[in-house]
Amino acid sequence: MRIGVLALQGAFIEHEKVLRKLGCETVQVRKRELLDGIEGLIIPGGESTTIGKLLNDFQIADRIREKAEQGMPVFGTCAGLILMAREIVDSVQPRLGLMNIVAHRNAFGRQVDSFEEDLPVKGLGGQPFRAVFIRAPYIKEAKDGVEVLATVGDKIVLALENNLLASAFHPELTDDTRIHKLFLDLVKKAM
Ligand code: GLN
Repeated sequence: MRIGVLALQGAFIEHEKVLRKLGCETVQVRKRELLDGIEGLIIPGGESTTIGKLLNDFQIADRIREKAEQGMPVFGTCAGLILMAREIVDSVQPRLGLMNIVAHRNAFGRQVDSFEEDLPVKGLGGQPFRAVFIRAPYIKEAKDGVEVLATVGDKIVLALENNLLASAFHPELTDDTRIHKLFLDLVKKAM
């Protein structure tokens, strides 16, 4: 499988490493044309306002929307989750707006910039997933058609809507590849 990783800014190298470990070919997406040769796309963590602006500047955003509508699986992590959301609390920043979710940025408060949590994930099986959160958002509201896969307290941190997956944490920063496998299952299903 050929999986694209949006490589405008942020933690894209780490995602590529995991994908290669799972036997995928990876493509660093910096141009809209590159979206045509891939079977799935990851939007990495980083700074959502920067990535959102570059997505528009390089005219990549509208093509991602078209491809996602045609069924291409897209997985957003952290800043990627924010960009996937149709609504972002108190923000008019540019976004892809693919998922029927309300994202809340930097939502775990200033005292806990980063933390790790053993997360039970619906449908994953086995041990809880060790999730790394870095200035993480959360999903304040999952609307129609969105399935909640994991929460920290009452905060939603992993959600699925058909071919779209979003995590508030960074699954590319641990050795556990199960969340990436979950995404690759969506890709296989879509092919
Ligand atoms: N706080 C960042 C944002 O709002 C996201 C942090 C991350 O991706 N690690 O874009």
